[in-house]
Amino acid sequence: DPGRPKKVLILMSDTGGGHRASAEALKATFELEFGEEFEVTVCDLWKEHTPWPFNQVPKTYSFMVKHETLWKLAYHTTAPRFIHQSQMAATSTFIAREVAKGLLKYQPDVIISVHPLMQHVPIRVLRARGLLNKIPFTTVITDLSTCHPTWFHRSVTKCFCPTKDVEQRALKAGLLPSQLRVHGLPIRPGFGKPTKPKVELRRDLGMNEELPAVLLMGGGEGMGPVESTARALCDSLYDNNKRKPVGQLVVICGRNKKLVKTLESLDWKCPVKIEGFVTNMVEWMAASDCVISKAGPGTIAEATIRGLPMVLNSYIAGQEVGNVSFVVDNGAGKYCDKPKEIAGLVADWFGSKAAELERMASNAKKLGRPDAVFKIVHEIAELARTGETLATRKLMYT
Ligand code: UDP
Repeated sequence: DPGRPKKVLILMSDTGGGHRASAEALKATFELEFGEEFEVTVCDLWKEHTPWPFNQVPKTYSFMVKHETLWKLAYHTTAPRFIHQSQMAATSTFIAREVAKGLLKYQPDVIISVHPLMQHVPIRVLRARGLLNKIPFTTVITDLSTCHPTWFHRSVTKCFCPTKDVEQRALKAGLLPSQLRVHGLPIRPGFGKPTKPKVELRRDLGMNEELPAVLLMGGGEGMGPVESTARALCDSLYDNNKRKPVGQLVVICGRNKKLVKTLESLDWKCPVKIEGFVTNMVEWMAASDCVISKAGPGTIAEATIRGLPMVLNSYIAGQEVGNVSFVVDNGAGKYCDKPKEIAGLVADWFGSKAAELERMASNAKKLGRPDAVFKIVHEIAELARTGETLATRKLMYT
C-alpha cells in the first residue's frame, strides 16, 4: 500500500550509554522532518521479546556497571570475535523464534539498531526468513571511540559512526567503506537550536544571573562521585576573604532519587540548584559555563554542541574509555577523578584561568555536530523509501 506510512523500527535497550537518548533523538527527528510519512517504533527487543533470562539484560547491565570488576570481565571476555560469535549463535537459536515474532510483528520498512547487542541476533533472524535482502538494516553507533566489536556486523546496509575513529574500527572489523557514514552522534533535534540569552535562561531556571555556573551530572542514572564533588565545589567557589561565592552550581541527578534527597538535606555556601531527571537539558547547559560528568557519549556530544568545556570524572570501563580521549585529545576538557582537584580546576577556570576555559569552549564547539541526527535520519528515510539493502546494492554493482 503506497499510501501507508513507512515503518521504522528502532532496536535499543535501556542499558545506559546513551542508547535511549539516541533512539529518542532519531524518533523525534523522523517526526519533525517527515510527519506522518513515517511511523517510528522504539523497541527493547531484549525486554519485550525474549524469554527469561534474556529479558533481564537491561537489569543485569545496571547491576554490572555499578560493579566495575564484573563489568570489565563481561566486556573483555566477550570482545574476541570467535567468542561473541559462537555465543551469539547459541543465544540466537534459543531466542530466534521470539525475536522473529517481535521483528515481524512490526513489519518494518527499515530497522535501526542503536545497541551493541542488537546486530547479530536480529540479522540472523532476518537472514533465516529471507528478509535480509528486503529490509534495510542499519546500525547507529553510540560510542565515540572504543567500541565493543558486537557493534560491527558485515551484513548491515549502513553503519553510522559518530567519529572517524569509530569508522577506522569498523573498517578493521571488515565493513566496507560504502557501508560507512560519519555524521556524528545523533542528539535530540532541539539541541542545535539557539536558546534564549543566558541571563534570561538563568532567571527562568531560578539561578543566580551573574555568577559563573558549573553543571554537575552523572548520566541518566546520576552515577559517579556527584555528592563529594558538589561539596568540594562549594568550598572552592566560595571566597572566604570576601565572604561571598564566586560561582554557582547546578547538580542534575537524573533518575538517582536518593542523590537528590541527600543533596537537598545539605547546607550550601554557594547558590546551588538540585534537580532530578530534567527534560530541558539544553537549557541547563546553555545556562552554564562548564560541565562535570561521567564520560557518557550523550552528555559529551551535547556539551560539544553547546560549546561547554568538560571535566570528565569517571567512565564505564570498556566502552567509555575512548570517550575520555575524544574530549581530552581534542582540547575540549580534562579528565580528573579527584573531587578536590576538580573543584580547584573549576575555581581556576572561573578566576585566573579564564582564558583556558574560553579556549576549551571553542575547541568543544568545533567538535559539536548538531546536524548529525538530521543527516542520519534523511539517509535512513531514503533507504526505507528505496528498500535498498546490502544485497540489492551488491546486485546492482555486479
Ligand atoms: N539526561 C537528561 N536528563 C537528566 C539526565 C540526563 O535528559 O536528568 C540525558 C542527557 O542529556 C544525555 C543522556 O541523558 O542525553 C545520558 O546519556 P549519556 O550517554 O551521557 O549517559 P548514560 O546515562 O546513557 O550512560
